[in-house]
Amino acid sequence: MMTIRLYDSYSRSLREFEPLQGNQVRMYACGPTVYDYAHIGNLRTYLFEDVLRRTLEFQGYEVLHVMNITDVGHLTSDADTGEDKIEKGSRRAGKSAWEIAEIYSDAFKQDLRQLNIRDPGIWCRATDHVGEQIEDIRTIESNGYTYATSDGIYFDTSKLRNYGYLARLDVDGLNAGQRIEVGEKRNATDFALWKFSPENQQRQMEWDSPWGRGFPGWHIECSAMAVKYLGKMFDIHCGGKDHIPVHHSNEIAQSEACHGTRLANFWLHGYFLETEDKMSKSSGEFLRLQTLLDRNIDPLGYRYLCLTAHYRSDLKFTWESLNGAHTALSRLRNMVAGWGEPGTADTGFVIRFRNEIHDDLNTAKGLAVVWDLARSSLPDEVKKATIFECDRVLGLNLENWKPQPLLAIPDKAADLLNRRNQARAAKDWVAADQIRVEIQEMGFEVIDSSTGSHLRKKQPESFRQRSRKDA
Ligand code: AMP
Ligand code: ZN
Repeated sequence: MMTIRLYDSYSRSLREFEPLQGNQVRMYACGPTVYDYAHIGNLRTYLFEDVLRRTLEFQGYEVLHVMNITDVGHLTSDADTGEDKIEKGSRRAGKSAWEIAEIYSDAFKQDLRQLNIRDPGIWCRATDHVGEQIEDIRTIESNGYTYATSDGIYFDTSKLRNYGYLARLDVDGLNAGQRIEVGEKRNATDFALWKFSPENQQRQMEWDSPWGRGFPGWHIECSAMAVKYLGKMFDIHCGGKDHIPVHHSNEIAQSEACHGTRLANFWLHGYFLETEDKMSKSSGEFLRLQTLLDRNIDPLGYRYLCLTAHYRSDLKFTWESLNGAHTALSRLRNMVAGWGEPGTADTGFVIRFRNEIHDDLNTAKGLAVVWDLARSSLPDEVKKATIFECDRVLGLNLENWKPQPLLAIPDKAADLLNRRNQARAAKDWVAADQIRVEIQEMGFEVIDSSTGSHLRKKQPESFRQRSRKDA
């Protein structure tokens, strides 16, 4: 299968992919809301988008990948009520909203790098595009799709014949069910384009607009920035599946009202990573990449785990499956490292691999092809070159992997361990305990055994424990 088939959520079907214009694929991915670290569930969505981009590039397309950073306007409730997540994060950490956005944007980019996710060609921040958003709201207003309430300018979804088609929303049913909670909104599905700053409270992030001082709603940023960088109708728009019923339905509504287009030719959605407890960034308890690093798990082990599942099925997270993925990756790395210099790739295996990933990014089957290849009787140099070829899509960075030195123990920790041994020899248990605490504070724990004591990197007491390092 030389053409790529992708599942388009809009038509709910597998469609053959062709760029709208020439050889270039224009692709927009909804980025993070930067009020806290990303959890590994969020990162699964960015991993899927990275594989999508790499698959398109593997096929020879040039990909223009745009990702936004939501640094204003995303409220704690998707129904346009509650507090701005960034302002809330600012109060929690005692830093300005601007600082919070900066800190967590940097942390997010760092996470992407550790997962070998390619940087988008264009990063764009909502706060840098307030002018564009205001312009679009004015157009939507003059086209007759808006109304004002006491707290903002809203989009009247009843004015669009097809509102909610992406999610096949039962708009009448929603209206009937939510009459009471709608408040000043005319329809349950209406959403804010512009929110006024509260009268009794100074916001850190606010701007003047034709409607009064305030800030943009969450959805308008994506349509405005996507159109600015990719045009009114581009190839692929993607995000997590939770975006289907609200965020992406609203982006589509805005674009239809503003430009008469439906924004993207393909809509792709990544399914969720599920943990035993609901994984939510806003509840303040979640697993992040650092939690895995603290357990000596290579971020690419997590990447491998995500590759074992199809992006369109939810993936249950367990430590056992992560450890299994990490072990499989280590085995693959060691095999590949033992194969000497790469020669020429085997066309048959590359075609088999391509067929799997062209089938709606079936990375699980792509990995199976890689393992068949690894165990095949082809000469080592052929296997090596072929695996490197497949890894352009898988992104496991096999080409640059070197056997790792054992975890280095800093001199100070080693010194403390010596002093603790001496204290124990002198039966000074109080001093020995104090030193153990000092060692723990350095991020190590002491393992006592019949053959003596040694240090290892501290494991979190429970993987559910809060892993935020206060910013
Ligand atoms: P946020 O930073 O909250 O705006 O979310 C960033 C991205 O992560 C969005 O595309 C969400 O759809 C996605 N997402 C949220 N939770 C999960 C999850 N548990 N698994 C996979 N993706 C998720
Ligand atoms: Zn978005």
